[in-house]
Amino acid sequence: MKLEKIAHISGRIRVLSGLHIGAGKDTIEIGGLDQPIIKHPLSQEPYIPGSSVKGKMRSLLEVYYFINNGRTRGYVSDGKPCGCGQRDCPACVIFGPGPSCDKKTAESGPTRLIVRDSILCEEDRLRFERGELPMEVKYENIIHRVKGVAEHPRPLERVPAGVSFDFNLSFKVFEGDDKSLLDYVYKGLRLIELDALGGCGSRGCGQVRFDNLKCDEQDVSLENVSLDSE
Ligand SMILES: [Zn+2]
Repeated sequence: MKLEKIAHISGRIRVLSGLHIGAGKDTIEIGGLDQPIIKHPLSQEPYIPGSSVKGKMRSLLEVYYFINNGRTRGYVSDGKPCGCGQRDCPACVIFGPGPSCDKKTAESGPTRLIVRDSILCEEDRLRFERGELPMEVKYENIIHRVKGVAEHPRPLERVPAGVSFDFNLSFKVFEGDDKSLLDYVYKGLRLIELDALGGCGSRGCGQVRFDNLKCDEQDVSLENVSLDSE
């Protein structure tokens, strides 16, 4: 397979409502929050793992396009990422065949999409270093059904609304690749804007917007991306 080019897409992820991308339970400090967000281990700066963006794009695209499309590869019905490994499967070609695929027989070739970790933009990183960017601690309760009062408050750590992260991804184009594959990347980003990033999306967390998007220095607008099923 001949590599024709690598497209570079950059922009900013702007947090519109508190973002909660949880850290593993083994990172909880004594006396710390029981629902902390993921942070750089040395600087303690929050960041957005590439896997969070990539995984959300993939799951939304698989559910939105490939179930609606009536495709019959047997994925999604079991809740797992597609593992067909076929050359004509956009999910496996763009994101790589899922864990259920036998990689030796996969025909989908190298994973086309690389999503980098997103770090705080320069202005917000400086604010963070000066101690002017505290993380938000939001308390969530359960309402007692008889008494009608809030109980069991649990603190949830979030990146506050208004913060921006630098966003970068690379997309490989091989000879013979369907030219519409890159459109799925934009559709995936637009679907994240309409859905949410990170945890607790149904409770208002993780609304984001992709700002200043460029592909190889050319402006890209997600507002014009069609989400019509094919
Ligand atoms: Zn597949």
